[in-house]
Amino acid sequence: MEKIYLDAASSSKPVQGLSDIIKPHIETNWQNPSAIYQDGKRIREKIEDVREKVALRINAKTSEIYFTSGASESNNWVIRGFDDANYYKDSVIITTPIEHSSIIEAISNPVLRSEIHFCKVDSYGFIDFNSLKSLLELSKGKNILVSVSMANNEIGTMQNINQISELVHSYNGVLHTDATQAFGHIPIDVEELEIDLMSASAQKMGGLKGTGFLYKKKGISIAPLIYGKQENNNRGGTENVIGIIALGEAIKNINYFKSAELVHARNYMMQELQGKLNCKINGSTMQRLSNNINVTFPQKISGEALLHMLETSNIYISTGSACNSSSIESSYVLNAIGLTEEEAARTIRITLPDDITISKIDVAVAEIVKLAKCLEVT
Ligand code: PMP
Repeated sequence: MEKIYLDAASSSKPVQGLSDIIKPHIETNWQNPSAIYQDGKRIREKIEDVREKVALRINAKTSEIYFTSGASESNNWVIRGFDDANYYKDSVIITTPIEHSSIIEAISNPVLRSEIHFCKVDSYGFIDFNSLKSLLELSKGKNILVSVSMANNEIGTMQNINQISELVHSYNGVLHTDATQAFGHIPIDVEELEIDLMSASAQKMGGLKGTGFLYKKKGISIAPLIYGKQENNNRGGTENVIGIIALGEAIKNINYFKSAELVHARNYMMQELQGKLNCKINGSTMQRLSNNINVTFPQKISGEALLHMLETSNIYISTGSACNSSSIESSYVLNAIGLTEEEAARTIRITLPDDITISKIDVAVAEIVKLAKCLEVT
């Protein structure tokens, strides 16, 4: 059976022709971009060209873009950097229980001195504005960081970032958003949305693993996570030249029309799964990532068992976030929106790649229906 990859949120296929583009940077142009002779300068120009592409894409200044090893580093940098920058001050970090593990684990670090608060989310994964407001009220007069992902990586719910930023700024807080899943799917204008800090990862948009960036608005002060001279003294470490060049290619390739096509394919597949298997959709149906499907099956169908059975049919899905799926723990995201552990175990995540077709969806749905029926009787 033809391979059908339905796990784009964990990694997307690198853009076409990328190996030819990066090859010269392995064979010939491999010198250090900080070297002051011509070879180094030429590589530096390539890096700065990508920085400009990233900045243009989000309506930022080039001096506000910092390359990192991915969104996990960017997220850790924000949490640790905010805490360090407020060493002698009263500081508060407010986040949600459905953030990516790189935020959840970073705020669990016992060395942090900031107070930590979790803002409630509703059963669709939307921020509860009353909860956010009362936490901000409680934190009045302190230095406040609010970190909320733009789109959830498991259930696809997209937050109303502009309303959140308005509320956070009315309390003089700083807003960080993890845009890893949203970037490339929806246009993002950091000025219009009044975002102060934003994380993204290249591997989710057709780039390579191990590269990402942090947008840090001019005037926002956070301490470095990795000390060193690169990235204007903000992030040490020789730049991942190949990863950054690949990020530039991925950004060039972003096509928002594709997202509209994906919405059509996603809705079709969701309806098929609902109609044929009586699945329950998790997350918002209105404000949802264009490629995300997260469904809970009726009794007896284990998501994990289905995943492995589908693998033997060359169909690849996920039971949750790829970063957590190697652990047998129940999804904390699903638990936070009200699913029991037993319901979470009957749940799968499907994330459609850009090259998905209706005929591939038909094949996948037929296989899911067939295998789910087998699980039902066992
Ligand atoms: N944030 C979100 C929302 C993600 O989905 C991911 C990747 N699963 C990350 C952060 C981490 O990205 P990376 O693995 O590139 O560090």
